[in-house]
Amino acid sequence: MLNLHFQVASLFYIILIIIFFYSKQRVQNFETRIFSCLLWIDLIGIIFDIVLVVYGYYDPYNNVVYLLNKYYLSYIIIWISLFSMYFVKNAFNNSKVIDRKTINIIYLLICLISILGVFISKVKLYNENGVMYSYGKPINIVVYYSLLHIFAVALVTYFNRKKLSIKKYIPILALILLCFLAFIMRLISPGTLLTTSIISFVNVVMFFTIENPDLKMIEQLNIAKEQADRANNAKTEFLSSMSHEIRTPLNAIVGFSNTLNENPNLPGELKDEVHDILSASDTLLEIVNGVLDISKIEANKIEIVKEEYDIKKVFDELCKLTKTRIGNKPIEFVCKMDETIPRVLYGDSIRVKQVILNLLTNAAKYTDEGKITFTIDSAKKDNIIRLIISVKDTGRGIKEESIGKLFNKFERLDEERNTTIEGTGLGLAITKKLVDLMHGNIVVQSKYGKGSKFIVSLDQRIVDKPKLNLEDTTIIMEELDLSDKKILLVDDNKLNIKVACKLLEKYKADITTLLSGEETIELLKKDNKYDIILLDDMMPKLSGTDTLKQIKEEKIYDGPIVVLTANALTGEKEKYLGLGFDDYLAKPIENIELNRVLKKYLKK
Ligand code: ADP
Repeated sequence: MLNLHFQVASLFYIILIIIFFYSKQRVQNFETRIFSCLLWIDLIGIIFDIVLVVYGYYDPYNNVVYLLNKYYLSYIIIWISLFSMYFVKNAFNNSKVIDRKTINIIYLLICLISILGVFISKVKLYNENGVMYSYGKPINIVVYYSLLHIFAVALVTYFNRKKLSIKKYIPILALILLCFLAFIMRLISPGTLLTTSIISFVNVVMFFTIENPDLKMIEQLNIAKEQADRANNAKTEFLSSMSHEIRTPLNAIVGFSNTLNENPNLPGELKDEVHDILSASDTLLEIVNGVLDISKIEANKIEIVKEEYDIKKVFDELCKLTKTRIGNKPIEFVCKMDETIPRVLYGDSIRVKQVILNLLTNAAKYTDEGKITFTIDSAKKDNIIRLIISVKDTGRGIKEESIGKLFNKFERLDEERNTTIEGTGLGLAITKKLVDLMHGNIVVQSKYGKGSKFIVSLDQRIVDKPKLNLEDTTIIMEELDLSDKKILLVDDNKLNIKVACKLLEKYKADITTLLSGEETIELLKKDNKYDIILLDDMMPKLSGTDTLKQIKEEKIYDGPIVVLTANALTGEKEKYLGLGFDDYLAKPIENIELNRVLKKYLKK
């Protein structure tokens, strides 16, 4: 009786798989190309098998049957070679021992030699009562050849097990298991021809585990996403270290020009130049901060850190900063805050301040004369207060068609008119992202040539029983005489030490300087009578943070320790305070900040 069940079933499902496979959009890579070859070869092999069985049934021992048998054996050799190549070749991707081309040649050579072996040696046929099978040398060649490849695949898979996903093992295990089964079947009943079905079954398994076009597409997208994330992280890290590198020399520029600026003996014409140096370095600092902020936002590394804060203090600081920014332009600056807003709110004051400052800075930058109005209004519901912040100017305004591009990064509008105004086109992109992160809203109204109005609304929680100590909101530079105080200043960079000493000069304190964390620990063990320690964080070997830890662990000093850092990202301050520092000074050190810190810890 003609026995074709297995072959017909295999033919049926391999055609289905081919239809599924080609009806979908596919990733075009080496493995997928091999898989499509496996499918087509399998289809041809099954057809050979069917023809062979039918022909052999009606006309046994015909020469055509012998020839077809050899073609059929060659099909098995080609299929197993491609299957093996599928798993082996990628493992040698970055190999120094053997390149991919050599692997192709080796595969091709051994495949051709084996096919030649099959054709020149004599195949024997048993073909009686509908039971047909072949034996002899060609069969042995195919069996040993297949075992060799299965062994190679198993070996390579074992050595690459850490890199491979579990799914990749399934077709290999299926093949090994089925071959074992076929071997046993052959011993029991040599007439049961299973090879074609095994091959087809392994193809089906491959389709459902590793070659399904949909899964493969998702896998490729994930890989692309991972690569993009890695590149993005590298970019953030690079920018963060660049910012640090830029800040260190900038610290010297700002520091020395600040002391020059304060020198009463400075001739008038030099005063202007020093002022220009200061404003240029401010701009440079703004750019460094902007680039860093946007890359952090894009890498999702910015978090909204909520805590209690004094809204009045934020408002006063903003008004003061804007007044300085406007300088002596003929602009009337009006600031107004709704008196009913509770003073202590719960939210991210640093981000709130950054958002408003960006708007105020733009108003000051893009307005030549007239009026800038900064107001904070409010609407209350239960314990939530909606801050409605508005910044209105009578500046150059924005063209209607440009408003849509306003929040794109690196987008500067009206370039012809704004060439003299420094900027990067990052301010509003950052502002928008921060407002979104705080679940707020920002809208713009503008008339070209007449002026603009930016309105931000932000919900903040009202704090009923504030824990916050309300400080005096006016920050003023106070003359301090610290001649009876001892300051320990630690920084590995000699230029930074020089700048800091220059800035501290006018306080007349007794300053000791050291260049490392190790020296600091050593000194404090002998003498810890310092009124304050100013400690740089980024130092080789023992960082400022590690030095602080050791000081606390060994309890060798209990006065205030203030961290100095060029890592002045917005949000860093909280991190350092969380680590146990008493306060934080960003480099370039600002005179006013230094004064605040010294006043806070050293004033009697
Ligand atoms: P930058 O000011 O660094 O160029 P921004 O993102 O803050 O970048 O602003 C983007 C652009 O939007 C500016 O280049 C400017 O053309 C325009 N712009 C922003 N604010 C105002 C404003 N208040 N008045 C007029 N134009 C503005």
